[in-house]
Amino acid sequence: MKQVTYEGLTFEPYITREAINARIAELGKDITRDCAGKMPLFLVVLNGAFAFASDLFRAVEGIDAEISFIRLKSYEGMGSTGVVKEVLGLHDDIAGRTVIIVEDIVDTGNTIFRLIKDLEAKQPAEIKVATLLFKPDALVRPVKPDYVGFNIPTKFIIGYGLDLNGKARNLNDIYVLKEEK
Ligand code: IMP
Ligand code: MG
Repeated sequence: MKQVTYEGLTFEPYITREAINARIAELGKDITRDCAGKMPLFLVVLNGAFAFASDLFRAVEGIDAEISFIRLKSYEGMGSTGVVKEVLGLHDDIAGRTVIIVEDIVDTGNTIFRLIKDLEAKQPAEIKVATLLFKPDALVRPVKPDYVGFNIPTKFIIGYGLDLNGKARNLNDIYVLKEEK
């Protein structure tokens, strides 16, 4: 794999698609086991989580599950604005249901924290969080993802759904911003 460049910034290979696939298969098994008989609703946070959600949802086999989408945005460029805007709302009735929020990455935790608060008001049976990537050192909110693909340091990542100003989502692997030496 080669380095890639976006907006004059260089990114280097970080997590291969093979490693992503293998980890998602494990997460799928965990969710299948934990959610047997519960008919979970996967609630995908667009845009970034679309790739992960597509693979994760299909890795959950042998139990009934549903999928729906919500759109939130808190990032501008490479930093969290701290303000989470609900761009596309939720129209499903989640009362009494097991909801699995699917995120690409939990960074400060602002997005997921706000979403959990909004969803709790709709009285689901339980809310779980599945995230492909988790930056524990960047967390400023009391949230703990239930299913984590990879714990990573506080670095900027692109690829496999994750973007820099809308670009790089179509990279098959995950790349990290190269540190200046
Ligand atoms: P949080 O609200 O700070 O936890 O950030 C959550 C959202 O910010 C994620 O769903 C991503 O869309 C975006 N984000 C956080 N870190 C990164 C990154 O390293 N690369 C690209 N997007 C990121
Ligand atoms: Mg996101």
